[in-house]
Amino acid sequence: MERTLSLIKPDGVKKHVIGEVIRRFEKDGIKIVAMKMIHLTKKQAQGFYAVHKERPFFNSLTDFMTSGPIVAMILEGDGVIERNRKLMGATNFKEAEEGTIRKDFATDIEQNVVHGSDAPETAAFEINYFFNSFEIPG
Ligand code: GDP
Repeated sequence: MERTLSLIKPDGVKKHVIGEVIRRFEKDGIKIVAMKMIHLTKKQAQGFYAVHKERPFFNSLTDFMTSGPIVAMILEGDGVIERNRKLMGATNFKEAEEGTIRKDFATDIEQNVVHGSDAPETAAFEINYFFNSFEIPG
């Protein structure tokens, strides 16, 4: 059984789509095994997106990620990393498939409602970045 990290970004919380995003996960048979709402500091956002630190949008992205609370979740299911990425849609909402979360709710390439780990190694790192050992079910 695979696990992945999902974030509802500050724009998703502001757009009142927390419930809708969770509904799509549950409708797809994905299980939520941990969840919390947090407001990242700039340092925490920079650490999370460290792989993007040389990108021109790094400062703007980390400002955006600290602009309001986010919802962090651990999702569980067979092939959940890919399944979640499919439900999310392409990074750029203009290129996202119909019916995906980003196609339906994103308004900007940066403010694209959700984050999802893209591989088993990143999922392991990202889950441990947001959740401690008492919060991660065995
Ligand atoms: P993801 O895995 O689909 O989230 O995409 P990436 O890992 O490539 O990028 C991480 C996040 O950076 C995206 O979800 C966007 O919020 C933001 N981002 C990606 N590309 C751009 C860009 O060209 N411009 C801006 N402003 N933000 C971007």
